[in-house]
Amino acid sequence: MIQFENISKWYGKQKALDTLTMTIPEGKTSILLGPSGCGKSTTLRLINKLIIPDEGEISIKGRSIRDYRAEELRRSMGYVIQSIALLPHMTVEENIGLVPDLLKWEEQRKEKRCLELLDLIGLDAEQYRSKYPAQLSGGEAQRIAVARALAADPPYLLMDEPFGAVDPLNRESLQNEFIEIQRKLKKTVVFVTHDLEEAVRLGDRIFVLKNGILQQSGSPADILSKPANEFVRDFVGPDRSLKLLNYYLAGNFTDGTDETDHPPAPETPELNAGDNLKTALSLMLETGLSSLPVKGVSGRIHRKTIESLVNLKEPRNPETEE
Ligand code: ADP
Repeated sequence: MIQFENISKWYGKQKALDTLTMTIPEGKTSILLGPSGCGKSTTLRLINKLIIPDEGEISIKGRSIRDYRAEELRRSMGYVIQSIALLPHMTVEENIGLVPDLLKWEEQRKEKRCLELLDLIGLDAEQYRSKYPAQLSGGEAQRIAVARALAADPPYLLMDEPFGAVDPLNRESLQNEFIEIQRKLKKTVVFVTHDLEEAVRLGDRIFVLKNGILQQSGSPADILSKPANEFVRDFVGPDRSLKLLNYYLAGNFTDGTDETDHPPAPETPELNAGDNLKTALSLMLETGLSSLPVKGVSGRIHRKTIESLVNLKEPRNPETEE
């Protein structure tokens, strides 16, 4: 757990953060979200002591970061930034091995870890390990940057617009891979973005900032369905209910009834548990059915459940994050 307690940070006369208090939970992805200049990167850099606060207290696992040596802190935190920071004269394998090198790992252990990580990020190890950064696409280079941050298996991962410079298509596949990796590794991730869609897709918890002041924190569903003020409402935009449908998964919204005695007719279309509610609604509109079964999940999902979400009324069985 990373705790911010009344943190303020000034750059000269400019206040970049104003009495920020927040708790970043363990093993989840927390998103710092807001427009450019709202203080997201400043918040991130405070966590690994690249900068220090003017006021307030930051603690990690109950211990003030003043009591951690910067080096000790940074070793427990992988850091990925937008501008690709791979060293151009080093191969992929050498880039991934940077921190293990510092930690004086043996060659064999380093090699094994590198191959493991290339596999984790979905790149063919034999093909990529000896490439140089100039031989990689933008998306591949960012994958390697993530692998490098994970090399020594740090419990924390700080990510500052890590996919911001990648084209939209590649960005989506990087996001999907990130979701998969995080499902396996369950790191404590702090992720900076100004992109609402990205925040909603990746975040377990979202912290919305404006002018260095925390506006709202909550699950993506909270932020979309119950914006705390005018600013958050404007930021999430007028089509927030549709965004919410993109975010909710069909498997979580069935009525839970046991249908083993009345299995659906063989030709009834089925949803997958991982389909989102927008897909579910489209299929219902297409087929004219008012409910649909979900593969592998008991019960059916009803059109009226989805409609209640679009109207932003409380859903029948809302997914909770905690
Ligand atoms: P974000 O990451 O949300 O874009 P930042 O945390 O980078 O925002 O910046 C917050 C505010 O502090 C901005 O107004 C920015 O101009 C200012 N700022 C950030 N870094 C510096 C710096 N090194 N010197 C002076 N002002 C800075």
